[in-house]
Amino acid sequence: KQNINIALIGNPNVGKTSVFNQLTGLNQQVGNYPGITVEKKIGFCKLPTNIKANILDLPGTYSLNASSIDENVVIELLLNKNDKLYPDVALVVTDVENLKRNLLLFTQIKDLEIPTILVINMADRMKFKGISLDIPYLEEHLKTKIALISSRKGFGIQELKEMIITYRTISTEPCLNSSVIDQDYFDSLRKAFPNQLLYKLWLVITQDVNFLNLDRNEIRSSFTKSHSDLKRLQQKETIKRYQFINDVLKEGLKIDTSIAKDYRSKLDRVLTHKVWGYVIFFLI
Ligand code: GDP
Ligand code: MG
Repeated sequence: KQNINIALIGNPNVGKTSVFNQLTGLNQQVGNYPGITVEKKIGFCKLPTNIKANILDLPGTYSLNASSIDENVVIELLLNKNDKLYPDVALVVTDVENLKRNLLLFTQIKDLEIPTILVINMADRMKFKGISLDIPYLEEHLKTKIALISSRKGFGIQELKEMIITYRTISTEPCLNSSVIDQDYFDSLRKAFPNQLLYKLWLVITQDVNFLNLDRNEIRSSFTKSHSDLKRLQQKETIKRYQFINDVLKEGLKIDTSIAKDYRSKLDRVLTHKVWGYVIFFLI
């Protein structure tokens, strides 16, 4: 194969397009409001050891429990291994200040057993916010490699590239996998589709997406449940995922609010200074 495929996936506003620009060197339009990326954007990147990559900037997605057209674009790509842009590596981009919320999507991507790197972006904000991360702990419990970067400052990008080229050995171990699936479904799915990834089947049942390798109606008809039942099952899935995420972050992420306050009061002082400067300037 000529180029490997790298997909940038993440919630809106976490810096996917900024990472895309860092990797491709292009100066794509960066928006500061959610939903700016409405279609797939492709760029190219030359990685260390001469590996070439297609970089795919996907629309912002909160979870795989799709509710918008944008999100469907992402799900359809991830469910279809025959798609020519199907990722060799998924970079799940997150904002260090919103890690808990951002990790919901990460655990879902992991459960599709796609080789994944967790990119924690906006690292330049950590000091200001008093955030510290135990990266080895997080890597162990989230079963992933982590790249801590700032796409604004260009910090960590080279390390990210070096991580990407090890894509063949990146873990595809799921985070929660079938434990998010309702027990009734679990048993019948196992029986009916012994060779399929259960979380994939789960998405086919609960989502309105085209799944090209399997006959969706066949899967669905064997599991007749009302729409509201399915919504309830999705909510249960989300709760289980957040329980997992909370447990991991309890050890892996610390926020020292006094540091944040200290920085803020320093900042306030600087600002007040400036304001007085302007007032004096104005009076003169
Ligand atoms: P996307 O919606 O995920 O594509 O995110 P964008 O790349 O459009 O970035 C969203 C906002 O976050 C923009 O205002 C960026 O300037 C800002 N941003 C991106 N990366 C960083 C970073 O590393 N540090 C900081 N402080 N801001 C960033
Ligand atoms: Mg974008």
